[in-house]
Amino acid sequence: MTQRSRRAATVEGRRPDRNQLRIRLRAKGLRWTPQRRLLLDVLDRLEGHVTGSELVDACRELDPGTTPSTVYRTLDVLEELGVVSHSHGHDGREEYHVRPRATHGHLVCDRCGTSWELAAGEADPLVVAVRQRRHFDVDVGHLTIVGRCATCAAQIAGDRA
Ligand SMILES: [Zn+2]
Ligand SMILES: [Zn+2]
Ligand SMILES: [Zn+2]
Repeated sequence: MTQRSRRAATVEGRRPDRNQLRIRLRAKGLRWTPQRRLLLDVLDRLEGHVTGSELVDACRELDPGTTPSTVYRTLDVLEELGVVSHSHGHDGREEYHVRPRATHGHLVCDRCGTSWELAAGEADPLVVAVRQRRHFDVDVGHLTIVGRCATCAAQIAGDRA
């Protein structure tokens, strides 16, 4: 498990191929608009998890005319195409990242806000137990477990001592 903050500079996923994307958008009857290209440029530059409003701000830096609804609609389309995926932070807010190579869930500390990737293998005991007992298929890529990280737990214990 690798530690990463929300803005961690690790390359999490492969970069989407623009030509492929253009073809897939066309196949869905959607146009390759300047706004869609702009959002992809922004996603290329940002790493880790970013909220929708952070993406709107970043787009506005490049094109002040960007409207939030355009950004959110485009995110929906890109998610349908498998380019981005969303997860949820400790406050439930949607966070986006470029589609990672491997499906992973997230651990989020509600004290310091740091998040960690939870590998599919680590989630297996829970996923298997839930499937067997409840006949419920867990979507690991959409799984966020909120709690307390080891550093914060140690600090809290230290404060009490
Ligand atoms: Zn969601
Ligand atoms: Zn913490
Ligand atoms: Zn992630």
